[in-house]
Amino acid sequence: MPRIDLHAHSSASDGTASPAALVRQAAAAGLDVVALTDHDTTAGWDEAEDARPAGLRLVRGAEISCTHGGISLHLLAYLFDRGHPPLVQALQRLRASRLGRAELMVQRLVADGVPVTWGQVQGLAGGTVGRPHVAQALVEAGLVGSVEEAFSDEWIGTGGRYWAGKEDLDVLEAIGLVRDAGGVAVFAHPAASSRGRTVGEHVIEEMAAAGLAGLEVEHPDHTEEARRRMRDVAGALGLFVTGSSDFHGTNKDVALGAWTTGEAAFAELVDRAEGAEVLG
Ligand code: AMP
Ligand code: FE
Ligand code: FE
Ligand code: ZN
Repeated sequence: MPRIDLHAHSSASDGTASPAALVRQAAAAGLDVVALTDHDTTAGWDEAEDARPAGLRLVRGAEISCTHGGISLHLLAYLFDRGHPPLVQALQRLRASRLGRAELMVQRLVADGVPVTWGQVQGLAGGTVGRPHVAQALVEAGLVGSVEEAFSDEWIGTGGRYWAGKEDLDVLEAIGLVRDAGGVAVFAHPAASSRGRTVGEHVIEEMAAAGLAGLEVEHPDHTEEARRRMRDVAGALGLFVTGSSDFHGTNKDVALGAWTTGEAAFAELVDRAEGAEVLG
């Protein structure tokens, strides 16, 4: 059975491996298929393509920061046309909002005498800036022991003391943009309640009606109960089920291929895609 991991981040967003290192690590981990899904960017696509080892198939994608009714949610977009102007502009807006809010979090930390700087955080981010880069600065300053530890109420966990929100894209609009760009949309970690509030099943129903194709059910942030529930929802709505590690290099404690996607779901994903090819 091929091993398929459909969600991984590189240093083009908040992962720690470069896109080239990521595809090499994916092959070394014994994966047959890996998807590069950096937050709100396709900046890592070319480097990953150039470095792709023979025998590894590469799915080019992105993870789009979305919102619905004040709840933040992530949409995985696969095999879309990266030049589709409305999508390009939407991703640009998302990255700009991330930049402003990261600087605001740093300003709040600095105002409280925390020894981090905006220049330091910008230096830590090689592309799309995210909270893990602010967290890395807090680790460098010796204030927390790990990136994970910074995701608390005391620091930059959602709603936490130094947390600032960003302006995300309405999820139904995002699904429309991905489809218009020939891509396939999958709801990332739909029931990861440890990250904050999650949407109810009626919202997933609306997303399905807007053209959502799949649900990421097998994910490190899901409990067994959440996976069971999401599998049922996917079945009821005719969505395919994916599994993935959501690899972030050393920023998170999960290995490439820790969770994987079945062959049939992957075939359906590829079948639906019109915006870009699987490489390899
Ligand atoms: P942002 O997209 O800037 O709001 O930051 C969210 C990102 O932080 C996610 O994509 C994860 O990479 C990371 N993250 C979220 N929660 C945690 C956590 N508890 N521990 C470590 N990293 C986390
Ligand atoms: Fe991330
Ligand atoms: Fe995510
Ligand atoms: Zn992710």
